[in-house]
Amino acid sequence: MLLKIQTGQNNPILRKKSQPVKEITTDMKRLIFDMFQTMRVKDGVGLAAPQIGKSLRIIVVNAGYDICIINPKIIKTSKEKEVQIEGCLSLPEIYVPVERYKEIEVEGLNEKGEKIKLKAKDLFARIIQHETDHLDGILIVDKVFH
Ligand SMILES: [Zn+2]
Repeated sequence: MLLKIQTGQNNPILRKKSQPVKEITTDMKRLIFDMFQTMRVKDGVGLAAPQIGKSLRIIVVNAGYDICIINPKIIKTSKEKEVQIEGCLSLPEIYVPVERYKEIEVEGLNEKGEKIKLKAKDLFARIIQHETDHLDGILIVDKVFH
């Protein structure tokens, strides 16, 4: 099922801190499946649950392959940062330069509830940082690099 994307930089759901996931229910698995589908149809490279109106710490990312991270936590960052232009499905037509860590290490749970820990760099690392920001109510317009 295609999910409706929440838009607007003052949209309350996009500005709220999302809740950690305590239990991965059947409904939640369905939601994650729908998030993947919505991301694909909308031609996005990532999607966070608040963007489809759910205040939960769930992100999906496509950087060559699909990955879902529940309760993502960035545990390590490189010294090196990089500035690139970013867009966001929730802020159509806004493209701004954002500085991100070039490499990160993230941990969380996959959709089966298994612990995962992965290293990401470049675009993959950037998407994870962008989507994790969504879970804390942070949007690219807050992070414009000058
Ligand atoms: Zn976004």
